[in-house]
Amino acid sequence: MTTFVPKIHQQPAIMNTFLLSPDKDPMGRAIAEFHQTGKARKLRVFSSLFEEDEIPVCQLFRVESQMPPLEQKALQLANGHILDVGAGSGCHSLALQQAGKEVTAIDISPLSVEVMKQRGIQNVHQVNLFDERFADTFDTVLMLMNGSGIVGRLENLPLFFQRMKQILRPDGCILMDSSDLRYIFEEEDGSFAIDLAAGYYGEVDFQMQYGTVKGESFDWLYIDLQTLSYYAAESGFQTELIMEGNHYDYLARLRRIAD
Ligand code: SAH
Repeated sequence: MTTFVPKIHQQPAIMNTFLLSPDKDPMGRAIAEFHQTGKARKLRVFSSLFEEDEIPVCQLFRVESQMPPLEQKALQLANGHILDVGAGSGCHSLALQQAGKEVTAIDISPLSVEVMKQRGIQNVHQVNLFDERFADTFDTVLMLMNGSGIVGRLENLPLFFQRMKQILRPDGCILMDSSDLRYIFEEEDGSFAIDLAAGYYGEVDFQMQYGTVKGESFDWLYIDLQTLSYYAAESGFQTELIMEGNHYDYLARLRRIAD
């Protein structure tokens, strides 16, 4: 496999800090329907890389014992004041709260935020991670279910780490899971056919649909550990592999390197 050599990208000056509106929030609608009725229709997923797929909505309501080992590990390691970024139905926040930990959940989805309030999560805000008006600080920033996705594109990583420097308390850490998508490009002989000129192979464009509610398309970043470590180091963070999953997925812990 050829190692991906990061290019010098044109970095965006600022990150988008949008929120979703209820009529463009298919996942939130699915979460709300499942919460209200105990069942849901198909949450359809279209992307630039995979065939049309669907997210089983009940999985968004997984309890701790149903979570993959990577997520259980992240919950165990999370401590102090915890920020659950892109919390969805609040499955991780609820487990942390039940364990007596202090957690704040944020999401850009108005419908998911409403469900989280109804499920009893005490601190919930409809806020975009990159909105600097959200000025709380945390000991642990939790980003799960391919949590690197929220960064969107590789070129956004410097701004992501800049934002983490505002949010993290001294000695704080980020717990993030992701997957190395190189398996998609694996040939029968075990080599990898990755077009390095086409940009980073983990950058995927997604769109979701629930019933007639179709969301806008959005960028979602899958990142391999080596590339993540490279970008983290450039921004003054050190990356530690905590655990590998069984399909090119992993949990990493990132901390600031002392200045
Ligand atoms: N963590 C949850 C949900 C993952 S889906 C779980 O593991 O089940 C990703 C979630 O991130 C969605 O609910 C989406 O609305 C939210 N999200 C996407 N971009 C965001 C951003 N910039 N800031 C906060 N939340 C975001």
